[in-house]
Amino acid sequence: MPLNSMGRALDAAAGHFARGLRRSLLSELRAAAQLNELSLHYQPRVALPDGSPRGAEALLRWTNPFYGEVSPARFIPLAEASGLILPLGGWVLREATKEAASWPGGGILSVNVSARQVEAGVLEAQLDQALAESGLPPERLELELTESLALAESEEVRGTLARLRQRGVGLALDDFGTGHASLARLRRLPFSSVKLDRLFLGDLPRDAGNAAILRAVRQIASALRVKLVAEGVEQPEQRDFLTEIGCEEAQGWLFAYPMPAAALRDYWHRAALPSAAPRPMAGAAG
Ligand code: C2E
Ligand code: MG
Ligand code: MG
Ligand code: MG
Repeated sequence: MPLNSMGRALDAAAGHFARGLRRSLLSELRAAAQLNELSLHYQPRVALPDGSPRGAEALLRWTNPFYGEVSPARFIPLAEASGLILPLGGWVLREATKEAASWPGGGILSVNVSARQVEAGVLEAQLDQALAESGLPPERLELELTESLALAESEEVRGTLARLRQRGVGLALDDFGTGHASLARLRRLPFSSVKLDRLFLGDLPRDAGNAAILRAVRQIASALRVKLVAEGVEQPEQRDFLTEIGCEEAQGWLFAYPMPAAALRDYWHRAALPSAAPRPMAGAAG
């Protein structure tokens, strides 16, 4: 067989293999929910510059006996394409709010939601159920919508997001800078914060281009009264630059890794959430 046609045959075989793998991964994922293979980890989010804890983001984890740890970057798209994300997203909301209701001293819980949950019109009912069951005040919840996913900005979608905000739930534009409609979307939809994608932080502050973009984003966020949060902060130099431009909050391995719920409770005790700190005595000045 000539080399180039062998190459084509191999490509075709790889395509079949990849499709087969996707199919079986999806059927495994359907079973995973029943088998307790899914869990949530939580990554703390801190204030800049002092690193005091503000809350945590729930991140879905899937440990399969055959595939091992499967990255959400792989299985979330499968769940979205198949519709499985709707029940899965509901479970994440119930599980995470139940956990956050027991955090000492409060703290904001961030939960990733899929555009599919919004578009299918199920998000508000899922949210109501989660808040009612957990007792978590809506002000302690922030929903993250990724920018990289196409979100049909229909009247219904805009209405849903506006009603969430009216209830006091925060709304974050996640992975800011990776999509096509970043700035326009930030202006059109009622976001309360924007999470800078870690791709921007790569070589800060040496990368003059990214540094200039971040300064501009900082100004736009201020003008729109949207809180600026950086994610994927790994280096002290990145933290220092973000602090210098007035980025309010950050998340990343420099501060804390995602961790299981039990480890997060230890983290809260070590770090003490702001509202868990002793309050000034009644009548004290300031
Ligand atoms: P995301 O919401 O942007 O979450 C941040 C990702 O960056 C997480 O990856 C986190 O583990 C990772 N990360 C945090 N700090 C650092 C750092 O300093 N350096 C680097 N290199 N990475 C860092 P993860 O957990 O693999 O999640 C990937 C994506 O999957 C999330 O990105 C989110 O879009 C999606 N996802 C995760 N859980 C859920 C969920 O419950 N529902 C939905 N719809 N999507 C989810
Ligand atoms: Mg997120
Ligand atoms: Mg992100
Ligand atoms: Mg991301």
